[in-house]
Amino acid sequence: MLLYPLGMGVITTTMEDIMKNYPIRWSWIIIITFFILGAFDIRFGILGIVCMGTPILHALRGEGKVHCIKYCPRGSFLGKFLAKISLGYALPKFMGTRQFKNGLLMLMGTVFTFAIFHSGGDFTKLASAFYRFMGISFIVGILMGITYKPRSWCVVCPMGHATQVIKEIQVAKPQVSTASRQVTARDN
Ligand code: SF4
Repeated sequence: MLLYPLGMGVITTTMEDIMKNYPIRWSWIIIITFFILGAFDIRFGILGIVCMGTPILHALRGEGKVHCIKYCPRGSFLGKFLAKISLGYALPKFMGTRQFKNGLLMLMGTVFTFAIFHSGGDFTKLASAFYRFMGISFIVGILMGITYKPRSWCVVCPMGHATQVIKEIQVAKPQVSTASRQVTARDN
C-alpha cells in the first residue's frame, strides 16, 4: 500500500493497481508527443489547455484528484523515468506548506493572465504561452524529481493544488448548508 503525496491530499492505493489498470501507465506518451508537435509547430502549444484544464474539470465534476491518480501525462512521465535516477533527497519542508502552494498557484495565475492579455487574442502567441508554461513546469518537475523523489513536483503542482482547493470547497459547502438548515429549524 502506498501513500501518494498529490497536492494537499494524500491518496492511499497500490502501485500495482494503478500501473495495471489506468492510463497513467502509458500517458507519458501524450506529453512527449505534445512537446514534439510544439517544436515542429508552436501552434500545437494550444493543446496545453487540455493538460492544464483536465484536472480542474475532473475536480469540478466532483471527482477530486482522479486525474492525478489515473491519467496525468506529466505525473506518468515523472514516475516512470525518474525512479531510477532520482537522488531521493527529502523535499524541503516549506515546499509542503499551504502558503507555498497557494503562492505558487497565485504566481501561475498571475503570469498566465498576463500572458493571455499580452497575446492580444493572437492564436500563435497564446499557443506559445501555453507551450512555454508547459515546458518550464516540465523542466522544473524533472529537476525536482532528480533531486528529490521522482514525483516531488506533484506536491507543489499548481493544478494538483487547485484540484485540492476545489475538493475542499465542495466538501465544505454541504456542511455550511446543513449547519444553516439546523439553525433555521431551531429558530422556527
Ligand atoms: S499533481 Fe500535477 S503533475 Fe502531479 S499528477 Fe496531479 S496534475 Fe499531474
